[in-house]
Amino acid sequence: MGVEMVSKLLRDVAENALKLMEADGVYIFLCDEETGELGLGVGVWASGKEELPTDTLRKDSLAARVAATGLPIFLDDIESYPHPPPEARRWGLRAVASLPLKREEAVLGVLSVVYRAPHAFDDADLRLLASFASQAAVAAENAQLYADLEAKANELALLLKVANTLSSSLTLSQTLNTLAEEVVSSLDITLCSIALLENDSLSIQAAFAIRSLNWNPPIGKSFPLSSLPTLQRAISSNRPIPFRQDDPASALPQHELEALLTKGISSGLILPLSTAGRTLGTISLGEMRRWQRAAFTPHRINLCQAMAHQAALAIERAQLYQKTIEEKQRTETILREASAGLLTLDSNLLVSSLNPTAEAILGLKAHQLIGKPLPSLFTQQPSPLDLAIQSHKRIPPTETTIASPKGPKDLLLAVAPLPDGFLLSFSDITRLKEIDRLKSNIVANVSHELRTPLASIKAYTEILLEGLEEDDPSLRHKFLSIINQETDRLAELIDNLLDLSRLEAGRFQVTRQLLSLSQLVQEAVSSLSIQAQRRNISIHTDIPPNLPPLHADRELILTMIKNLLSNAIKFSHQGGRVDIVAKREQGHLALSFVDRGIGIPKEDLPHIFEKFYRVRSTTESGITGSGLGLTLAKQAAEAHGGTIEVQSQLGKGSTFTVILPLPRSEESEHE
Ligand code: ADP
Repeated sequence: MGVEMVSKLLRDVAENALKLMEADGVYIFLCDEETGELGLGVGVWASGKEELPTDTLRKDSLAARVAATGLPIFLDDIESYPHPPPEARRWGLRAVASLPLKREEAVLGVLSVVYRAPHAFDDADLRLLASFASQAAVAAENAQLYADLEAKANELALLLKVANTLSSSLTLSQTLNTLAEEVVSSLDITLCSIALLENDSLSIQAAFAIRSLNWNPPIGKSFPLSSLPTLQRAISSNRPIPFRQDDPASALPQHELEALLTKGISSGLILPLSTAGRTLGTISLGEMRRWQRAAFTPHRINLCQAMAHQAALAIERAQLYQKTIEEKQRTETILREASAGLLTLDSNLLVSSLNPTAEAILGLKAHQLIGKPLPSLFTQQPSPLDLAIQSHKRIPPTETTIASPKGPKDLLLAVAPLPDGFLLSFSDITRLKEIDRLKSNIVANVSHELRTPLASIKAYTEILLEGLEEDDPSLRHKFLSIINQETDRLAELIDNLLDLSRLEAGRFQVTRQLLSLSQLVQEAVSSLSIQAQRRNISIHTDIPPNLPPLHADRELILTMIKNLLSNAIKFSHQGGRVDIVAKREQGHLALSFVDRGIGIPKEDLPHIFEKFYRVRSTTESGITGSGLGLTLAKQAAEAHGGTIEVQSQLGKGSTFTVILPLPRSEESEHE
């Protein structure tokens, strides 16, 4: 039965009463179940109008008095009373009978039968009136039942709606914002704020207010719990606390009101947000519109509590979700940043994830692998993965080789069984293996390099010892100078080796001093002049006189210059020309060694700075060397924060450029 039905029933009763009582008007008001005040009603008049004398709702009206006392009032002639009821004049009433509509002791409403002329209510009238009153009471009771039902249905709908919206939002902030908005619109209140507990303080996380309110909620603001006693009480008692600002006994202290809601709130409710044994925070509801009587009746408080409980569950779920997301992000970061390659296979042995390091090592992109079986990469059978699959046991880090799209690679690979697949973790040790191989080469190389000069020293010494056949002084001189040259070569080789190993071990003491670059270059040129003359090579230097001094280690820089110059001479053609050019560039010095010699094949360029590396054609053409000069030169440049660059064209020549940073003061002085 809807409101319409109730009104119709009441109107029927009123119309019958109007007719049978020959009255001028009949009106019936129903009491609000929660407040007891008169509200809904119907009014019929003999003139045919349907009008409700709403001023009869005033507290001092007759109807209000009947509602309050539950006793009927009969006035035969209002004018004979010293205090006529206030509505009498306005509606021109002379006689009134007002009867309570009762169910047991409860007053459900008031029926008033009015006359514009004096009317003596006799027994028959009273019986009739009593019967109308009881008919109206039935209608009123129905109306209340209906209102109850409707309210329940509304509440259910409301709870369902909140539950639905909350369950569809997953992130915490989304959940809180939806909740705040939903609470304001469903409960038809002015505003709402949600605060969450963080240790011993409370921070406002979400808020919502009706559009007409110009409110700037303090989102993100945090308050120590001790500064909000009412809120603290709500949390510790786990009970909602209603407040009314016009009631000193329940009013919220102004600073709390302003912290949680805003000034000008007339009534409200502080609700703890808690789930089994855990308080998450509070929801504060506020009502500003004073005409909204009894915004927070016990019934509504119950409803709010039910909603708060649902909200707390949603918040907890969102917090959990957030934690899961954070955990996931953490794991993803670890995977992404791990320097080892990590790859997982699912229970069907299909690739389920891999990190960027794994992509780089395998030379395959995630999209080429995910959801597919691992391509047959392992060159050795059975692979560590096969072993893990067979035994379903962990395979500790093992050396293995794979055929990656970028060529063969040495890996150190471990396999661990997962609850639903396998985890492969691996690192690329190709380079380490190469160094290992190189080391063995180095030993072989060094022995060889030491042996060659030693062999010729030995041979010539033996000849000299045996005494030259015709003690030819020029021949002896020749032999001795060869011995001398080979000894120098040996000494140089050993020096280079020692310097290199000291530099590499970081034990080389770099002693910096102010040096003139042009002097150093001159020194190197003169120490290599014999070598140059022998091959008829001219050396030209172009070093600006105003170059700032270098702040560097003399020995290291000199070795570097000598090695680069010696190479330029060695690899020039007979009668060629070598240039040494220094230039000052932004913040650094560039020193180039330019030759027009044999040049370096492109494929060798990336390797020439490696230890003992020598271009094959050089070795074959009988040019001597140890393959250490460039390594040493590079180390020397790097020890000074510099680099060496090379440009070369096979058959045309090479340019090696050393870039050395200039001290900061030099930069600013000269630029
Ligand atoms: P080496 O003692 O053999 O000169 P380096 O380390 O100085 O050893 O040089 C390594 C290799 O690089 C040389 O063997 C040579 O093949 C090549 N190289 C170095 N400098 C030059 C150059 N100026 N022109 C051509 N090839 C060069």
